Amino acid sequence: MSLTIVQHPLAAHVMTHLRDKTTKPALFRTLCHQITLLLALEATRDLATEEKQIETPLESVRGRVLARPLVIVPILRAGLGMVEPFLALFPDVSVGYIGLERDHATAIARSYYCKLPPLDGRSVLVIDPMLATGGSAAQALDVVKKAGGADAALVCIVAAPEGVALVEERHPGLPVFIAALDRELNARKYILPGLGDFGDRLYGT
Ligand code: URA
Repeated sequence: MSLTIVQHPLAAHVMTHLRDKTTKPALFRTLCHQITLLLALEATRDLATEEKQIETPLESVRGRVLARPLVIVPILRAGLGMVEPFLALFPDVSVGYIGLERDHATAIARSYYCKLPPLDGRSVLVIDPMLATGGSAAQALDVVKKAGGADAALVCIVAAPEGVALVEERHPGLPVFIAALDRELNARKYILPGLGDFGDRLYGT
């Protein structure tokens, strides 16, 4: 499968503080921003570029620019925390939204919102910080592919092996970018060691 785990000393440093239960929402948001910047750089390493002739103040030079618009699709609500760092790197990015809510009793995802820009011919990154069972991510990727997003990838901060396996089963070969591959899910489908409920920690709920 196409799984990339970001390898960078800063990623390890940020992950440790994200996991720390004493980290308060303000710092948690900053750390989320930092780790997402690193993930975004990794996930966009192979974006297509095209040649562009420009004039510097001194002479003419052939440079390269991004060839295709990028689309990010955060899965609500925790995915929203990863939008801003993508916008910081790619100001022209289009943003779609998929609202999936995990039923805490059954851990099954239910769709309550979907708004997507045109996806045809664009690189699409589905973003969700926690890849736990993989149900939400696989469902969101179904929606994206059905809407024409043939060139899609998944970007998460923490993943459980179970979630990675489900995405691979439902979307074979799809590129997945993560900052940490954790041990397992607990009985309530939380990632271990994980960092708890990402949305709650981000928004202080
Ligand atoms: N969602 C979270 O926020 N945390 C987990 O551990 C699993 C799913």
